Amino acid sequence: MGGVARPASGSGPGAGADLETAGSAVGSGSGDGAGPAAGADLVVGSVGSAAESDSGAGADLETESAGSAVGSGSVTGSAGPATDGDVPAWLAGLGIPGLIDLHTHFLPDRVLRKVWAYFDQAHTHYGVEWPIHYRHPEPTRLRMLRDLGVTTFAPLVYPHKPGMAAWLNDWALDFGRRTPGAVPTATMFPEPGAHDSLAAAVEAGARCVKVHVQVGGFDPRDPLLDPAWGLLAEAGIPAVVHCGHGPLRGDHTGLEVFAEVLARHPRLVAVLAHAGMPEYDEALRMVEKYPRVHLDTTMVGVTFSEKMSPLPPDWPARLADLGDRVVLGTDFPNIPYPYAEQLAAIAGWAAADDRLGASFLRAVLHDTPGRLLGVLS
Ligand SMILES: [Zn+2]
Repeated sequence: MGGVARPASGSGPGAGADLETAGSAVGSGSGDGAGPAAGADLVVGSVGSAAESDSGAGADLETESAGSAVGSGSVTGSAGPATDGDVPAWLAGLGIPGLIDLHTHFLPDRVLRKVWAYFDQAHTHYGVEWPIHYRHPEPTRLRMLRDLGVTTFAPLVYPHKPGMAAWLNDWALDFGRRTPGAVPTATMFPEPGAHDSLAAAVEAGARCVKVHVQVGGFDPRDPLLDPAWGLLAEAGIPAVVHCGHGPLRGDHTGLEVFAEVLARHPRLVAVLAHAGMPEYDEALRMVEKYPRVHLDTTMVGVTFSEKMSPLPPDWPARLADLGDRVVLGTDFPNIPYPYAEQLAAIAGWAAADDRLGASFLRAVLHDTPGRLLGVLS
């Protein structure tokens, strides 16, 4: 369906999505918001509601079965956290020392307000309402992450047009250095100097890079980016790549496009944002083919997304051999539901297949993202 996705303008670069994006704001001013789409990071893809009926199907998060989200049914007793307040005790019960979230978003306030304004119009952009659940001042948002037990997180930024990447990198590097728990991050855009700008950020300590193909409206195969991909592959720095069609298609979205980048840079530590939503099958195939490709959980399996881009019913089983290739991501704070809901969805997968279980949860929520960000030995 539509809604979500694909405005006529699909072509537009869209401004913004992921939140951040919007960024437009940044500096520019004007036009920005303009972009059609912008959109969200999210995921959505297609359509409609299928699931609706089961209302709960999805996540019952609040209850016990979280798992449900998966679709696979079955899960019983997965008991993920019902509320954000339950998260610390849930982690303690699992023996997990804290959450490491590889996909969150922080921005200068002025920019973030524009992003939130975009989501306020989500029904127009995506066909669904998108009430930002964590619409709070920055100090409050940081405290909420700490209260959830998030010990480390990657605050991601990304440009939707030329001339923004270096500015965003400066901000993100500074934010990462001065904010407890945050790691310095960077982004890139196909423009002259892209490699040098990224190299400077890496030299300055960036530990994670966000690349937003849909919001940026660029081709990840652009020759201007080739040396930058090479740099990341060489350095082993994870690149969180939003290259899927959700929630809005872009001129260069689609995992088959990004697959060509991987073919040229097979050692790239690529983290497919939203697990490739809605192209989950293709994402799994890329993980199987390239040993350094990972999936992030951002918005995957929660009720909100299941209505539009449901996971395949055998999702948990298909993760059985890929347990160390999945990392926690959430899109905090720009999500239309509580953080605990994402954790409950993941808990549901863990409970749905005996090969996953507690060891899978520890890997996803802590060990693997910690390894990618270089904060664990
Ligand atoms: Zn995001």
